[in-house]
Amino acid sequence: MALIREKDSKRLHIKSKLMGESLVGKTFLQSLEYKDAFKILPDVNVLKIGGQSITDIGAKAILPIIDEIVQNSEQHKMIISTGGGTRSRHVYAIAMELGMPTGIISKLGQSISEQNALILSTLLTPYGGIKIGHDDIPKLGAYFMQGCIPVIHGMPPYGYWEHPPEEGRIPSNRTDVGAYLLAEVIGAKQCIFIKDVDGLYTDNPKIDPDAEFIPKIGARELLDRNLDDLVVERVVLELLTRAQNMQQVQIINGTKEGNLTRALNGEHVGTIIYKDI
Ligand code: ADP
Ligand code: MG
Repeated sequence: MALIREKDSKRLHIKSKLMGESLVGKTFLQSLEYKDAFKILPDVNVLKIGGQSITDIGAKAILPIIDEIVQNSEQHKMIISTGGGTRSRHVYAIAMELGMPTGIISKLGQSISEQNALILSTLLTPYGGIKIGHDDIPKLGAYFMQGCIPVIHGMPPYGYWEHPPEEGRIPSNRTDVGAYLLAEVIGAKQCIFIKDVDGLYTDNPKIDPDAEFIPKIGARELLDRNLDDLVVERVVLELLTRAQNMQQVQIINGTKEGNLTRALNGEHVGTIIYKDI
């Protein structure tokens, strides 16, 4: 290891490719070469169970999905990431009225998705369900070795540091983003969003019955279409265009029995959004 002191200052450097660089220079960043991203858990499926779209329906929607997860747990490794839903929207509305900053609203959302993680992990406990927190990611390997089904809250841990959104004050990085980023960092096999619609349409199918189904589309192409409303948080699409591990995500209808099993088996049952650049 070579230690070097700058001539006209007292700065100490350790010789490396990044020595003395601000790490901001565009040309410098472009010139760097990287090894392919390491896939930590390439055989694990990240399943996001929608808050508003699934958990809030109650037992009718939740129990069949729990059954399907358990039935598949011998063949497929899964980590469950939870949404917030109606309780998040309620607390966001109160917080907005009171002028709460985005970082506070993000913290509020985090605790709601954690409530749903506690419910789902409790239901899965007899089958190896284990509620984990964000600091437990490095323990996942050991949990999977023991046949566990980890359940994590979906809200990403930006919390007070959540970036102010382009529009309004509601955090743009919510539980879809948290599930996607988890899949990206572990180099997951699949990232499956379980919701209450068949996938992506040209508009919200609950409001516009003429909305057309889109079975497969590129993330960049979808962003460029600038649709007014989406089935998945817009940031997920932006992140997918810059993905280093994930090549696609799938949105499936979890209220139809068998869809999750088919998606876990690699079938195209909903909408696939892929990295197109
Ligand atoms: P989650 O609870 O998983 O976060 P959301 O309720 O936030 O799910 O988002 C899913 C909902 O998005 C669907 O139930 C649907 O009503 C609505 N939606 C809005 N725009 C679209 C669209 N273009 N295609 C499909 N669904 C859409
Ligand atoms: Mg949502």
